[in-house]
Amino acid sequence: MVGGGIIGLSIGWRLAARGVEVQVFDAWAAGGSVLPMGKQSEALPMGKQSKAGAWFVAAGMLAAGNESTWESAALGELMVESARRWPGFAAELGVELPDAGTLVVALTADDVAEAEREWARRPGHRPSPDPHSGQRPGPHSGQRPGPHPGQRPGPHPGPHPGQRPGPPPGGMVAAGELGGAAAGQRLLEVSRAKHLGPSALREAEPALSPRVRAGCHLPEDRQVDPRKVVAALRERVLVVPEKVDDLADLDADQVVVAAGVGTARLAGLPVRPVKGELLRLRGEPGLLRHVISGYADGRRVYLVPRADGEIVVGATQDERTDDVVTAGAVLELLRAATDLVPALADCAITETLVGHRPSTPDNAPLLGRLDGRTVIASGHHRNGVLLAPVTADLIADLIVTGEPDPLLAPFAPGRFT
Ligand SMILES: Cc1cc2nc3c(=O)[nH]c(=O)nc-3n(C[C@H](O)[C@H](O)[C@H](O)COP(=O)(O)OP(=O)(O)OC[C@H]3O[C@@H](n4cnc5c(N)ncnc54)[C@H](O)[C@@H]3O)c2cc1C
Repeated sequence: MVGGGIIGLSIGWRLAARGVEVQVFDAWAAGGSVLPMGKQSEALPMGKQSKAGAWFVAAGMLAAGNESTWESAALGELMVESARRWPGFAAELGVELPDAGTLVVALTADDVAEAEREWARRPGHRPSPDPHSGQRPGPHSGQRPGPHPGQRPGPHPGPHPGQRPGPPPGGMVAAGELGGAAAGQRLLEVSRAKHLGPSALREAEPALSPRVRAGCHLPEDRQVDPRKVVAALRERVLVVPEKVDDLADLDADQVVVAAGVGTARLAGLPVRPVKGELLRLRGEPGLLRHVISGYADGRRVYLVPRADGEIVVGATQDERTDDVVTAGAVLELLRAATDLVPALADCAITETLVGHRPSTPDNAPLLGRLDGRTVIASGHHRNGVLLAPVTADLIADLIVTGEPDPLLAPFAPGRFT
């Protein structure tokens, strides 16, 4: 295994359980990382950046429902399947999996309209048959259509006061149309997410601003702390703290490349870094219960609360390679966060972080055999934490049985060459 991030370690763990002798090499497992081995779940001192992978920065949302807006049906299906495997995966690792779910909330009338537009582009929706209630998905359907969290969107086409985020009238596709009954069923469940008005929202989450107009509850979009997951995996899988410069140097029958953005150089595949800036705050435990995914006066932000009072506030998304936390990003994230939850202004800022999502031309992962010796598991973009369990099972099975699971077919690593 090359890469001891969340993907490489999960695969290594599943391979070892199937009786395969595994060695995991990781460039930053020791020495290069700011944090020593065994301390991966601790906070990073302010102003420091770790060279550890994206897992160290990730918020840990398991957002098969909320993130499905952007992606292809095949990726949506993979996300749903992985979300289904998370409870067992977390239980085996002894890692907490809070189950309050996610509240998607919108602050202003324009935010409500924006949320509606994004939900309407969700793969499980038909174009609305009602000419007054929604627009057809345009030519960019299936691609990321709007502003990223932490970025300002363009001008809105006008307020739709009193409307709620959620599916437009018009119904959903039948479960089977998405190519998988489980995926279809899941998307239907998500689409039927419980819509909440302002008072119901504040009953569910009292710290929300009274200005929040509308929202909905996605009970199955959970969260996990990726640092705790990696720390638990590192107790189970031995990591050799070495950088691999050339796959030919490895003395192994089979090599799995799960090196995040490092995969590009090692395997010559189109994996690019997509910069994300994110903050960690610390407040009173219990200030928030749910993950909050918010539309706040034209900005997107998410808040991921941990049981110990930590709240992750994320994240920007830029096609950049630097590791600078900018004043503008901090300003935008905090403005959106405190607009939604004013009490966050009293929290301590404990970390300001940059990570690089390993992303591909279609932002879907590269999963499968590249040649007789090399298997790739990389390019998980915004959802590598969510996708870790299904990736680990499918790649371990591929290596042990030699047979690719049909779920892998759309993600062939050679599809861009
Ligand atoms: C700001 C931000 C927020 C995110 N939030 C979420 C979220 O809420 N939910 C979610 O599901 N995903 C999230 N992600 C995405 C997620 O972090 C990634 O998809 C995931 O970490 C990818 O896992 P990985 O193991 O492939 O890569 P990484 O986590 O990047 O790990 C790669 C590992 O490979 C090692 N490596 C690299 N090159 C070499 C080499 N030559 N030799 C040896 N070792 C090498 C590195 O040291 C590293 O440990 C977020 C990402 C960012 C940046």
